[in-house]
Amino acid sequence: MESAPVRTRIAPSPTGDPHVGTAYMALFNWVFARSHGGQFVLRIEDTDQARSTPASEQAIYDSLRWLGLDWDEGPEVGGEYGPYRQSERKSIYHHHVEVLLEKGHAFHCFCSKERLDAVRAEQQANKQTTRYDGLCSSLSADEVADRIARGEEHVIRMRVPEEGACTYTDRLRGEITIPFAQIDMQVLVKADRMPTYHLAVVVDDHLMGITHILRGEEWLNSVPKQKLLYDYFGWPMPELIHLPLLRNTDQSKLSKRKNPTSVTYYRDKGYLPEALLNYLGLMGWSMPDESEIFSLHQMVEAFDVDRITTGGPIFDQTKLGWLNGQYLRELSPQAYAQRVQDWMLNSDKLEQLIPLVQERAERLSDLVPLVSYLLGNLPALGEADFEHKSMQRADVLKVLHHTLAAFDEMRDWRRDELFALCQALSEAMGLKFRDFLVPLFIATSGRAVSLPLFDSWVFMGSDLSRSRLRAALDALGVSNKERKRLDKEYQGIRSTLAASDASN
Ligand code: GLU
Repeated sequence: MESAPVRTRIAPSPTGDPHVGTAYMALFNWVFARSHGGQFVLRIEDTDQARSTPASEQAIYDSLRWLGLDWDEGPEVGGEYGPYRQSERKSIYHHHVEVLLEKGHAFHCFCSKERLDAVRAEQQANKQTTRYDGLCSSLSADEVADRIARGEEHVIRMRVPEEGACTYTDRLRGEITIPFAQIDMQVLVKADRMPTYHLAVVVDDHLMGITHILRGEEWLNSVPKQKLLYDYFGWPMPELIHLPLLRNTDQSKLSKRKNPTSVTYYRDKGYLPEALLNYLGLMGWSMPDESEIFSLHQMVEAFDVDRITTGGPIFDQTKLGWLNGQYLRELSPQAYAQRVQDWMLNSDKLEQLIPLVQERAERLSDLVPLVSYLLGNLPALGEADFEHKSMQRADVLKVLHHTLAAFDEMRDWRRDELFALCQALSEAMGLKFRDFLVPLFIATSGRAVSLPLFDSWVFMGSDLSRSRLRAALDALGVSNKERKRLDKEYQGIRSTLAASDASN
C-alpha cells in the first residue's frame, strides 16, 4: 500500500509578537515536509479570543514570508481542508464533541469555580495529583438535560479511564508511559462554547490529514489526552516528533524577559533571514558533515529527522551575530546595498521617521544623527550617563526596573498604551512625569533629549526597546539583591496599574 503523503503543520496562536520559537517550528516542519515532497500547512489557533489579535496574525504571516517559509495551505493561500483559522471552525468542533458525548467519552460538567478550587486545594493538601474528581461524570441523562434546560453554566469534559496507562511513542524519545491516574478530565468545550486547544488540535490535525506533528517539547505532557481523543474517535495518531525547547544562555526556557524573542526584532536589527534560518537549523540539529553554514536548500537535501538531539539548544546572540557576519561578507556590494534598502533605507521606513525628524532638522543631513539610535546600536552607557539633578540613583533604578517589568507584560505595543502605562507608573511611584521620563530617554537613546520617546519605542518595537532598558540596568550595576528588592516593590505597585494594558 502506498503511504500517505507527508503533511506537516504549525499551529501558532496569534497572541503577541511572532516568536523565534514559532519560526524554529516552522523551519523544521517546512524542511521535513519538503524533504519528503510533502505539504506544509499553516493553521491559526485563535480559540483564545481575548488574547488573539489580527495584528499578531498578520505579523506571523509577515515573519514567515520574510524568512521564505511559504505554506502550501492556510489563511491567505487557501486549500482544500479549510478554513484554517480555528475561530471559523466552531461548528466542526461542536459536531465532533457531540460524537464523543453520544459514545459516552465526554460528559457535561456543572461544577462551579469555587467547588473546583476547593477540590484542588484538598488534593494539594493531601499531596495528590490535582485533577477533576469526576463528580459530574455520573450524572443521569435526565439530570443533565434538566440542568442544561434551566440554563446552568457548564463545560464539556473528556472521560479518562480509571485504570491503566497511556503509552505513546515520540520519535526522538521512544516509548513514554503515563498512568491514567495522572491525567485530568480535560475540558473540551468551555462555558463560552469555544473548544479548548486539546479538542481543536486533534480534530484539525486529523481532518487536515496531518501525518507528522513536529512541535515543542512543552506539549509532550499533553499527548495522553490527545491520544485518548484519537482513540475515542477511532483515528490513527500522527507520528510525534517533539523538538527541544530553545534556551537562554542561562539554560532557562527562551523568554522575552531575558532575550529578544520576536522575529521582527531580528529583522529590524539587520539580521539576514537566511542567517537566522541557518542559525535555527543548528538548534538541536546538525549537518551530517557538521558544517555550520548551510542554506535552506542544503538543509532540505541533507535533512534527517533522527539527527535531532533533545538537549535544550542555547539561542546565543553572539553566535548568531557571528553567523550573520559570515553571510554579510558573502554578499556582493550590489546585493549588500539591496539588503540595506530592504532593511531600513527605503521610503516606507523613512516616511515613518520623517515626521519625527522634520521639526528638529535644519539640514537634510541632520537625519543621520537624529535617528542613529533608532537604526543602530547605542554606545555602551555608564553610571555617569544617568546622573540627574533631581533624581537619586535609587529612583533611576526604580524607573528603569519597573518600566521594564511592566513592558515585559504588555500585550499591545502601541503609543497610547505606552503613554498611559508610563503615566500610571510615574504616579504610582510618586514621581513627576518629566523626571520619570529622563532615565528612560537616556536608556533608549543614550541622550537626555532625543526624538519623542513614545514614538521611538513604537518604531523600535517591544524587544529592542526592552533590551535598551535591560542594558541600562546592567550599566548601572544592579546587584542581584537590588533586583530582588525591586521585583518585590514592583509587585506592590503593579496592582495600582489597572488603567494600563499591563495586566496579565
Ligand atoms: N497553538 C499551539 C501553540 O501555540 C500549538 C501546539 C501544537 O503544535 O500542537 O504552540
